[in-house]
Order: sequence, then C-alpha cells, then structure tokens
Amino acid sequence: MSTYNELEKTAKECGFTYYAQLDLSTLEFKQEIRDMCNPDKCRSYNKSWSCPPACPSLDEMREHIKIYKTGILVQTVGELEDSMDWDGIMETGAQHKKNFGKMRDKLNKNNLKILAMGAGECKLCAECTYPHNPCRSPDKMETSMEAYGLFVSKVCTDNKLGYNYGQEKIAFTSCFLI
Ligand code: SF4
Repeated sequence: MSTYNELEKTAKECGFTYYAQLDLSTLEFKQEIRDMCNPDKCRSYNKSWSCPPACPSLDEMREHIKIYKTGILVQTVGELEDSMDWDGIMETGAQHKKNFGKMRDKLNKNNLKILAMGAGECKLCAECTYPHNPCRSPDKMETSMEAYGLFVSKVCTDNKLGYNYGQEKIAFTSCFLI
C-alpha cells in the first residue's frame, strides 16, 4: 500500500465518512493550540501518556514528522437530533475511535511506518497506566491532533476537507502520516 488511492480505499473500508489527502506542508504546530490542553479546559490533562504534560513537546513533534512523506485526513460524521444531543456526539466519537483503530491496524499490517494522530485522549486501554507505569502500547498510543498543536479546522480547510457540517451533524477528525 503506497499510493494515495490505496489509502483512500482503506479509509472507506474502515468506515470513515470523508477523507482527503494531507499535504504535510500545511501542518503548523501552534503553541496557542497546545495551550488549550490545560486542567481548566480539558479533563484529560495529566491523565494519560498521550496528553500534555506527558506527550512530546511541540519541538519534538516537529522533528517526528520530518521522516513522513504524505498523509491522509479521515473524518467520521454523525447525525444529531440537535446541537445538545450529547449521546449522539458520544456515539459518533466512539465510532470514530473504532474506525481509527481499524485503519491504524491495517496500515501497521502493511509494514508502513505511520504516525497516527487521533481525536481526544488515548482510549486504547480500559485504564491508562499513567503516571506510575510505562505506556502498555507506545506503538499504538493515540495522541490527538490538538496535543500536536494543530488547529484542526484549519488543517481541514487547507486540505479541502469540510469541518463544520451544520448544527445537526458532528465531525471527528484524525490523520495518518505515512
Ligand atoms: S496505550 Fe494505554 S497506557 Fe498507553 S497512553 Fe494509551 S491508554 Fe495509556
């Protein structure tokens, strides 16, 4: 698996609603986005190896991506009864995590070197080992695009992918660098 068309086919098989080729030159790692990861704004802060302050710094992340050549943005879009439909938001988020895990496993099986950036904190284990024991699966751990300092709606716009589909829809976005 190497061409973008093959990546798109895999994204479709994994259940994503939309996908788009990711131009890595559009990725900007912004401190102001990373600063949204704080105890006042996110309950995941300091609760997982995948989130600040445990995850790599923005400078380390900038270094990490240098070996990757291309990427794909993937999105799961769900229908909501209204903008307060919390159950609908949670269901779509859970479906996105499933789609994301399937795609990560398929890409790993193809022996591709990938960097998977998820949506929200890592939920791979029922309970994260943080902070007392090392991560159980550092190769599979999901760090969110926001923790990477990425302004997700701008990344979508810059790569010609929708982001806001109206009050009766919710979109979760992730990406894979290859
Ligand atoms: S893989 Fe498990 S231990 Fe590692 S960050 Fe995710 S939930 Fe925590």
